[in-house]
Amino acid sequence: MTVDPAFAHVALDVPLPETFDYRIPDDWRPEVGDWVVVPWGTSRRVGLVAGLASGSEVPAERLKPLEPPLAGMPRMPRHWLDFVAFGARYYHAGLGELALPSVPKLLRAAPSARSRGPATGRARGRFDAGTPPRAVDAVDAVDGVRAVRADRSGGSASAAGPAALVPSAEQAAALAAIGAVDGHAVFLLHGITGSGKTEVYFRWLEHRLAAGPTTQALVLVPEIALTPRLADRIRERFPAMPLAILHSDMPDAERAAHWLAAAEGRARIVLGTRLSVLAPLPGLVAIVVDEEHDASFKQLEGARYSARDLAIALAARRGLPIVLGSATPSLETWHAVRRGRYRIATLEHRAGGATLPTVHRVPLRGATLKHGLTEPAIGAITATIARGEQALVFLNRRGYAPVLACGACGWLSRCDQCDAYRVLHRVGGPVRAAKAAAAGSVGAAARPDADDAPPVDLHAGGPRARYRLVCHHCGAEQRVPRTCPECGNVDLAGLGRGTQRLEEGLQELFPGARIGRLDRDVARRRGAAERMLDAAHAGEVDLLVGTQMLAKGHDFRRLTLVVVVDADAGLFAADFRAPERLFATLMQVAGRAGRHHAASRVLIQTRYPDHPVYDALAAHDYRRFAEQQLAEREQARLPPFVHQALLTAQARTHDAAEGFLAQARVALLERRTEPPIAAQVLEALTVCDPVPMPLAQMRGEARAQMLVESASRAALHAALGPWLAALRAQRTPVRWQIVVDPHEI
Ligand code: ADP
Ligand code: ZN
Ligand code: ZN
Repeated sequence: MTVDPAFAHVALDVPLPETFDYRIPDDWRPEVGDWVVVPWGTSRRVGLVAGLASGSEVPAERLKPLEPPLAGMPRMPRHWLDFVAFGARYYHAGLGELALPSVPKLLRAAPSARSRGPATGRARGRFDAGTPPRAVDAVDAVDGVRAVRADRSGGSASAAGPAALVPSAEQAAALAAIGAVDGHAVFLLHGITGSGKTEVYFRWLEHRLAAGPTTQALVLVPEIALTPRLADRIRERFPAMPLAILHSDMPDAERAAHWLAAAEGRARIVLGTRLSVLAPLPGLVAIVVDEEHDASFKQLEGARYSARDLAIALAARRGLPIVLGSATPSLETWHAVRRGRYRIATLEHRAGGATLPTVHRVPLRGATLKHGLTEPAIGAITATIARGEQALVFLNRRGYAPVLACGACGWLSRCDQCDAYRVLHRVGGPVRAAKAAAAGSVGAAARPDADDAPPVDLHAGGPRARYRLVCHHCGAEQRVPRTCPECGNVDLAGLGRGTQRLEEGLQELFPGARIGRLDRDVARRRGAAERMLDAAHAGEVDLLVGTQMLAKGHDFRRLTLVVVVDADAGLFAADFRAPERLFATLMQVAGRAGRHHAASRVLIQTRYPDHPVYDALAAHDYRRFAEQQLAEREQARLPPFVHQALLTAQARTHDAAEGFLAQARVALLERRTEPPIAAQVLEALTVCDPVPMPLAQMRGEARAQMLVESASRAALHAALGPWLAALRAQRTPVRWQIVVDPHEI
């Protein structure tokens, strides 16, 4: 005997772990996976029906009824609900908190009297109109691919397109290995930079998608800036496959259109950043995670998750193969390969006969610098430009100068909200070289001083209005003060160098060169990063300057020189992942050079030329580096040899934040939870002391953290469930979060 459900458990986009119960009205009945409108306080919200029940713990008279369902939204399939429920459990987050932010806002806006019918209808038309005209009906899509490709090799000018590449022996072997698997398996495609991983992905996707007319593939990339070019390559290669793109920097209407096309199976290939792993894809048959090591796959706000790890879980739950690609795999992935949990396919050579760049260390100690560059670096850039090739100058620090200082009293531009300095930023375009020189001692006499750029003088009456102070943590912005806030001195100076200032220096050193800069400041203007990259690819830029945004994944044809201005910043950071990050970043940026035949070089300016990280880099030896790092981590009992969860707390004072954590620690150790944590589970845990976070104050709040770790993932999760429930039941003004598998500690 079944009882008709009277209540719906509804997941909402709120930072709470639970779903909320609503009464089912008499005249209609929702199904699990339906989108519904519910009253929420004085407003209305759109939520997802996560379950149905005949009873509720809340007295019926206190429950409000569901409003009529949201028109036009597809019902979320069971496999997706199971997957996001798994994700919510694993990350100890709310189902709504995890899954709903990935659904475009436009589609989950509660309808108002003013809305012009369901947003879904308009969104559907938009995607279909936006697909290239060559797109054929889904039913013959697979044949369509063949037809168009046959067409191309039939001698047209486009025969030289990517579809015409003949796989190398290595690529063919990798494909054979990966393609042989039909069920769930995780493959690491470990291919050096420029080895042609993309070609392997494409051929594998082609093979997987050919299995049927409703198949879908998901391709994850770490950066929004990587999507346009890869999208072009996909469209060119799969002209018959409608492509949906999902990332957070799209206009609302477009984002809605693409999400719906993905969710309804109309898009055959879905390309996106981390949030796209949460898109419901009914026909999914293959997943690719490109640059799998990249920290940008970690979501750092709201529900904290790793899109790479969720992608692996998704593949496992749906019985699918997944390919993780990288030249510098994360140590977690490498460890899983060593243990036989993941399989590996390797590309040891660059595609198309290109060779790896030679890596040279240029000592900074005792060197004479101009605008942060040593003589060998300047000479190499000059020669490269003269040959009509491109050079990339890498500095992983955006802004003009990292700090503004008073030479008289030592005042520094601290942020009053954060435990950090406000960074000097130039507003608008670069100051022409002559003006920059006039503004201070910039470029005047080069000093034999590796440590710093000459200060930029912002004396009263100088170019002060061209600059602002910006905090990179809270975003606070202010004008440059007229005089020192402490002593009234009028001569304030920017110390050190960021990409904006480097760009100006390069202009002065190479007046005829066309310079293009890329960093997060440039990318903030919609389309600006794309324009700059297009110009670089079209050969309209001689000198590229930028942060790691430039390092990731790009395939510049004429780039033959990479100069790393100051590599050492990452060497001695406290975070145990710092060497891994530094190595990956340098390997990536070095990998931009010489991808197309020409001999190429990488110059690393460093104060520590003998450091083992640079040895491994010069030898292009990821394995050596990974093995050495893993040995150290195993010794020190660090991930991936232990599993971690980080409890973080923010409060008005450090005492409050650390006090909350200390109390949470006692609750755990004394097993004051419901149900009580088993003694042997507790024994398997290490519960560290609360400490201030590396950025101990942010946005005016004190921040502290406490690490819980265990060699047993099961034990860690068995403890986290009841423990967090107990913490949630407390009333406290302290805001806290749990981060499972934290990336930075
Ligand atoms: P990565 O492994 O760094 O992702 P890409 O996939 O970007 O490398 O490939 C690097 C370059 O090599 C691209 O320009 C690509 O077109 C070219 N390439 C890839 N495979 C082949 C091949 N089999 N023959 C010739 N060129 C190739
Ligand atoms: Zn002062
Ligand atoms: Zn701040």
